[in-house]
Amino acid sequence: MYCRISSDPRDHGLGVERQRQECYALAASQGWDVVQTLIDNDVSAYSGKRRPSYEQLMTAVTAGQVDVVVAWHPDRLHRSLTELRTFIGTVERAGVDVQTVTAGRWDLSSASGRYVAQTLGLVAEYESQHRSERLRAKLEQNAARGVTHGRATYGWRAEYGVGGHRRDVIHEAEAEVVRSIARDVLAGESLRSITARLNADGVPSPRGGEWQKIMVRHLVLRERNAGLRVHRGEVVGPGTWPPILDAATYEQVRAVLRDPTRRVSTGSAAAHLLSGIARCGVCNSTMRVAWNRTVHSYRCSGRSCVSRRKADVDELVAGVVVERLARPDAADLLAPKYSAERRAAADEAQTLRARLDTAADDYADGKIDARQLERISSRLRPALASAEAQARAVDDAPLFVDLLGVDDVRAAWERLSLSRQRAVVDALLTVVVLPTRQGKRTFDPTTVSITWRS
Ligand SMILES: [Zn+2]
Repeated sequence: MYCRISSDPRDHGLGVERQRQECYALAASQGWDVVQTLIDNDVSAYSGKRRPSYEQLMTAVTAGQVDVVVAWHPDRLHRSLTELRTFIGTVERAGVDVQTVTAGRWDLSSASGRYVAQTLGLVAEYESQHRSERLRAKLEQNAARGVTHGRATYGWRAEYGVGGHRRDVIHEAEAEVVRSIARDVLAGESLRSITARLNADGVPSPRGGEWQKIMVRHLVLRERNAGLRVHRGEVVGPGTWPPILDAATYEQVRAVLRDPTRRVSTGSAAAHLLSGIARCGVCNSTMRVAWNRTVHSYRCSGRSCVSRRKADVDELVAGVVVERLARPDAADLLAPKYSAERRAAADEAQTLRARLDTAADDYADGKIDARQLERISSRLRPALASAEAQARAVDDAPLFVDLLGVDDVRAAWERLSLSRQRAVVDALLTVVVLPTRQGKRTFDPTTVSITWRS
């Protein structure tokens, strides 16, 4: 086995270690005994410095001590076309097979195989080409180890211990901003009102300037908030950094912000309690607010089938909500009866991810083979998917935190921001404005159908 690292002055050991692991796995999958592992570390491809291990390899090949040379990629073996030609001549004479992890078997005994090799070698810049690939491989390796790269992200700061070993620790002030966003989202605040709150409080955004809605959303939805590391869009396991949000809170925030049916509670700037929530009893379009002579009215946004004075409908709906929440059994009905289950499901998902992770490590370390890894993965993945789904079912309980168990529900309701009131209504009720007889002037509450969501 031959490993070499040439680019990036840092993390050489890691780079070689990764090559070694993958080469070892390749050898193991072929049933080959690894007689020797030769490593040239920190040798630049362009410097022309001697490669003692490579020279040792060529000596071993010439002496007939080797059947197969295993490398991570052909570019590990040679740095120039001249070296390649020498290499081809040497392995051909010795009848040695060459296999690489990334490019497969390198058949230098056939004319076409040699042609491919020469063509590869001719691409003199492939060293630089593959530099980006090696960097990616390094990032992947970091991802696999749960190590962060680059500077610490918002919410954490880097701490360096002995030997320059880096560790991300929580940046309390920034972490608290993330937690406050999560709390507000779960309490039914819209992203717009949260953004406005952060700017009004003079909280600096991650980029230093004003907060934007999209920034707030992105920040609170980061998987790393829950200590989950993501690689290429997939959660690949627990990270090495301390989480800012517990798993259950994170899953709930995700559920609320990603559930398209709840768009109304988190979306645009609604200046009215029921716009976009109440529906037309004729065509089922949503109701929008319109000026009707001197007053605000909700009007069908489809074909203007129905219209009703806004103040009347708002008062009716608010009254229904307040009355419902003031009832003694409200706490039982709306209290977080599922929260415990969801929390357990979120914890279960974490545990399963960790087990998948351990299996992947065991595979990388050669403790288990690919089939065992596959068997473990296929057993754990369905359980993980179901735990995640359970953890992500939206829990409405946080919407009601300031409304339950208070002496004066009406006053508590009136203290809520409009976006939270809208979220509460949306969670509890379906409001449909029915047509009325022509000419009827006084408000008839029976022409507004209010039903409880199950
Ligand atoms: Zn209509």
